[in-house]
Amino acid sequence: VRIREYLRPSSLEEASALLRGSEDNRIVGGLTALKLANASIGTAIDLSDLGLDYVRSEGGRLRLGAYASLRSVELSPLCRASASGILARAAGRVGGVQLRSQVTLGGAVSSRWAISEILAALLALDAELSFFGAGRVGLGAYLEKPVLADILVEVSFADLPRRGSLRSARISYLDYPLLAVAVAVGEGRPGGARIVSGARPARSRLAEGAMRAFEAGADPRECGEIASGELDFGDDARASAEYRRRVCAKLAERALAEATE
Ligand SMILES: Cc1cc2nc3c(=O)[nH]c(=O)nc-3n(C[C@H](O)[C@H](O)[C@H](O)COP(=O)(O)OP(=O)(O)OC[C@H]3O[C@@H](n4cnc5c(N)ncnc54)[C@H](O)[C@@H]3O)c2cc1C
Repeated sequence: VRIREYLRPSSLEEASALLRGSEDNRIVGGLTALKLANASIGTAIDLSDLGLDYVRSEGGRLRLGAYASLRSVELSPLCRASASGILARAAGRVGGVQLRSQVTLGGAVSSRWAISEILAALLALDAELSFFGAGRVGLGAYLEKPVLADILVEVSFADLPRRGSLRSARISYLDYPLLAVAVAVGEGRPGGARIVSGARPARSRLAEGAMRAFEAGADPRECGEIASGELDFGDDARASAEYRRRVCAKLAERALAEATE
């Protein structure tokens, strides 16, 4: 990565003005994705002085600052206790401890890696993103939009008494998942569930037909079949589309069984 100038603004207003100053200017998190992309940056805008590394429960929501490291999310008692700890578990699966101490939650969300179990878990939790300029945006809507030239300030989700499950299939322990499924059951209304599949290898998406079937009383096996029938799957070096489809049915079945047992 090449950086012409490195600045640590003392307010979000200042950071936003710097970001708007040139399209080469970038907010930097842990720089891990930017290094991989060999990015060329005009002004690197480091938000470390803005106190955005928090994880707290407030107003019935779990609130995570965009500069919280994945390691702090993984170890947070609040994240571990919420919805069977699916977000903490997703964070704990990214690389090794050194990498997780460097990667920020804001960077992980903003880079929108399709293989990301973090995005799958956050979508199952119906997370909301707070941007400095655009305000609050649901994660589902954000993932369908073009990248926003804005500052992600906070990620939050309702702190409900939910149960969750995160399942993935990998060729080897340290490899990226060839498929991931995250579910959150409860949602404050009886019978409600959010069922998400990611790394198909496309971006995480809700299995809405399976969610409706679950609410109508279908069992985990039926819901898994519906999810695998309604989502699209692709081929890549890790697996074929057909293999992913079959794995999705099983992972969704097991995830729902675990979250409801
Ligand atoms: C070896 C390796 C293994 C990995 N494995 C996984 C994995 O298994 N699962 C997974 O999910 N991810 C994985 N990742 C990806 C990791 O999550 C990314 O590197 C991460 O997405 C980038 O986080 P960062 O804080 O380093 O962001 P940076 O690299 O600093 O930034 C990434 C992008 O996000 C933007 N950005 C950062 N913060 C903000 C903000 N607050 N507001 C607006 N834009 C912002 C930057 O401008 C940039 O475009 C892996 C990465 C590596 C290097």
